[in-house]
Amino acid sequence: MNELPWIEIISAVVVLAGGGGVAGLLVARRRRHDQERGGGTTTLEREPGASAQATAEPAAGGTATAIRPEPDVAPEPAAPVVETPAPTAGRLVRLRDRLARSGSPLGARLLSVLSRDALTEDDWDEIEEELLLADVGAGPTTELLDALRTKVRVLGVREPGAVRELLRSELVTLLDPSLDRTLRTEPTTADDGTHLPAVTLVVGVNGTGKTTTVGKLARVLVADGRSVVLGAADTFRAAAADQLTTWGNRVGVPTVRSDREGADPASVAFEAVARGRDEKIDVVLVDTAGRLQNKAGLMDELGKIVRVSSKVVPPSEVLLVLDATTGQNGLSQARVFAEVAGVTGIVLTKLDGTAKGGIVVQVQRELGVPVKLIGLGEGPDDLAPFDVEEFVDGILG
Ligand code: GDP
Repeated sequence: MNELPWIEIISAVVVLAGGGGVAGLLVARRRRHDQERGGGTTTLEREPGASAQATAEPAAGGTATAIRPEPDVAPEPAAPVVETPAPTAGRLVRLRDRLARSGSPLGARLLSVLSRDALTEDDWDEIEEELLLADVGAGPTTELLDALRTKVRVLGVREPGAVRELLRSELVTLLDPSLDRTLRTEPTTADDGTHLPAVTLVVGVNGTGKTTTVGKLARVLVADGRSVVLGAADTFRAAAADQLTTWGNRVGVPTVRSDREGADPASVAFEAVARGRDEKIDVVLVDTAGRLQNKAGLMDELGKIVRVSSKVVPPSEVLLVLDATTGQNGLSQARVFAEVAGVTGIVLTKLDGTAKGGIVVQVQRELGVPVKLIGLGEGPDDLAPFDVEEFVDGILG
């Protein structure tokens, strides 16, 4: 065991000689980390109930190459290059332009009406229409209009800077900055000393960006220095597990998956959480299937995933992924999931491609659950923690 520091130094020298620089050092360190944790893809071929040990064999490909015994000479440089994700701090500020660029920005239109000289009933109707078009929803729109009317009348606000400030503060109020948006990703320890990883289940209708979000979230966690295991519990599409494994490999994160299409998703979730526990991983992220065609079937499946994986560790987060471009439709889907899975947070994706950012308001109101993350593009680091003030500044442009 006391050979390890030498191996690390040799690895580092080899990678540095190849021009890897700081990134190279990270690769070397990550490789050792993978070796210790048995990184790579775990393949499941059995039913739930059997011991986790029995199937935790790394498959060929992925980062599995890293767990071979150390050779006598320096390790071959064939291991996949592990990327360093962008830091999470300031992401929404960096991605803010995407909100203002999407379609015709809500804020710009509202501001142009609000700064007209004398606001007529037609102007107020126009404002109402803009808010409704942006999916703010009927109730919140009325609230916002009432507040704006009163303040414009009482304060006589006209000057563009003051109008912007007024609109900004009303939108912030509507989005409720007091909601707790932290992601619970801290592992804990049971009374008997067992390591309990933080488990995040990611649910939602297919096509909303679930798998992509799990991949992006893994990168966020890795950037924040956490160890992660992915669970590919969307077993109905082989491509979904492949997609997830690829995301994981890029940041040196192993994926627990089943080789059999249509295998029991609860079994995969169980194995992923058990692996997180046994290998003292910080966070287990489980991707699930979301076929809404059969509501009863979906409920059964999700309910079972929650029940079965909770036998190892109950989830600390159940994140519902919603596509911001689907408006009301997305909202009615959301209710189904909230009923079944006890959602603790919303991830709103594709906000870069829509002028319907107002859906954030409705989703929070309807479900009583905070938006915690937003997707602002297809790039690997285009996922940002949701921050009310930064979001409002983004839509006001
Ligand atoms: P799933 O079926 O719910 O797992 O959905 P996927 O993760 O496969 O994503 C479906 C599509 O949405 C893919 O083409 C993603 O690149 C795309 N997507 C996901 N999130 C975003 C986002 O925030 N913005 C944009 N523009 N596209 C996204």
